[in-house]
Amino acid sequence: MAVIVQKYGGSSVGDADKIKNVARRIAHTREQGNDVIVVVSAMGKTTDNLISLANQITGQPDDREMDVLLSTGEIVSSTLMAMALRELGHPAISLSGAQAGIRTSSKYSRAQILSVDPARIENEFGKGNIVIVAGFQGITNDMDITTLGRGGSDTTAVALAVQLKAKICEIYTDVEGVYSADPRIIPLARKLKDIGYEEMLEMASYGAAVMHSRAVELGELYGMPIQVAASHNSNPGTIIHGGTPMEISNKVRGIAHDLNVAKITIVGVPDKPGVATSIFEPLAKAGVSVDTIVQNSSIDRIADLTFTVHKSDIGKAMKVVEPVVKEIGAASCESDSKLGKVSVIGSGMQSAPGYASTMFKCLYEAGVNIEMITTSEIRITCIIAEDKVKEAVKALHKAFELETA
Ligand code: ADP
Ligand code: ASP
Ligand code: MG
Repeated sequence: MAVIVQKYGGSSVGDADKIKNVARRIAHTREQGNDVIVVVSAMGKTTDNLISLANQITGQPDDREMDVLLSTGEIVSSTLMAMALRELGHPAISLSGAQAGIRTSSKYSRAQILSVDPARIENEFGKGNIVIVAGFQGITNDMDITTLGRGGSDTTAVALAVQLKAKICEIYTDVEGVYSADPRIIPLARKLKDIGYEEMLEMASYGAAVMHSRAVELGELYGMPIQVAASHNSNPGTIIHGGTPMEISNKVRGIAHDLNVAKITIVGVPDKPGVATSIFEPLAKAGVSVDTIVQNSSIDRIADLTFTVHKSDIGKAMKVVEPVVKEIGAASCESDSKLGKVSVIGSGMQSAPGYASTMFKCLYEAGVNIEMITTSEIRITCIIAEDKVKEAVKALHKAFELETA
């Protein structure tokens, strides 16, 4: 019997009717003679609502309590899904992340999966059960519940697919696959038949929420094919795999955007060894992840240093940076939380010149000012004003002719 993993996101299990519909799809896969593991997200906006509830109690919720609280969302949906399957006459059992053998590091709110013990799931397969696993969670060696970071149920699904040697990991969501840009912003965005892990990883890391970036990383590491498709119809989706993409006519494959960007600029930083460490070490210790870093070349041994963080981390980051500014003898520091980023991505870009200039010209013609630029071999990213991001995505999608590619 082949093992198939199917993951259903929050909007796909948003109410009782949707859960019943999804249960029918799962039953169909089972009836075709497969062992099925289903990973579910919390229903609809449950995770957001739980966060807001905690914030109404305290401004600084304890990390451990917060993870236990958030893990309950997926417990609810997994139990309801098991009930829906039983209603259809299929034996099914729900398992928490811990019961499914998912061991994680102890970094609350962004724990990493260390191992998956397949014994319990295999045992349930032996009894003929469809196994429904609560996504986004695991347990530490000290038996504390952890969560994997927002959107982490995708990563649960791929980790289980790898460990249980599944034929494929199917991610079902509220769009029909991976598109050339977010289809909610670009109605003309094109569904991609397939995309390589590398390109998908850049898309996901730079804002395409359709896949959790760590899920793509895991898929690539273990060569697990991932299919992204709609939970509400049976249209063909997108395959994420390691082979050469079939559609290589346009070297830009997609445009990603992210509205969650804030920057900190430290003005008048003395240009001497050790200064960067004094800034970034305490940030790392405080758990703030820093993205783009730009330092201009110094004039009279004084430079300016700018870096970006997630908007939600800006308060924490400023608290760390302000005393450091005094310590290192810099002039001042300022922050801006109204930023976003837009990226063009495509593996063919590395071998062809001109992509950066097309991007910059397009943004200029759209009246968008570029604040910072970063690149990888297959990506160019511009940090721009938040309120210009949607316009920029539209203009770039057109400039790179992605509707027709
Ligand atoms: P789920 O709850 O199923 O995990 P998510 O909200 O996490 O769903 O991801 C699906 C959303 O990702 C879509 O509704 C879409 O707006 C967004 N998205 C962003 N970029 C893309 C893209 N390039 N292709 C498809 N969807 C995208
Ligand atoms: N429920 C979690 C979230 O909203 C995890 C997920 O949906 O994948 O982020
Ligand atoms: Mg998601």
